[in-house]
Amino acid sequence: MSEKLKPCPFCGGKDIQIAIKEGAFKKAYCNNCYAEVQTKDGIGLVEKWNTRPEEDRLRRRMNADLFVRPFIKEYFEELFKSPRGKAMIKDAVDKFSEKGTE
Ligand SMILES: [Zn+2]
Repeated sequence: MSEKLKPCPFCGGKDIQIAIKEGAFKKAYCNNCYAEVQTKDGIGLVEKWNTRPEEDRLRRRMNADLFVRPFIKEYFEELFKSPRGKAMIKDAVDKFSEKGTE
């Protein structure tokens, strides 16, 4: 098996074992909490164990945020520089303050 097995998604254990069960029935399991995944023939077993949909979703989200952050910074820097931007900010702060005193 050339592909590396990720640590256990449940306990973080790093002792992940691959076992042949009843001849060809293979499983990958955590030797600490015994969480496991199985396949009928062992095909895609490592990929199955390494699948972390929620983790992958969060990683994509974080990467998107990191990508967008410089543009947001640039936008606000431009906004603070322009007279119209300053007026917009003042207006927004005033509206926010009014709501706060109601
Ligand atoms: Zn575990």
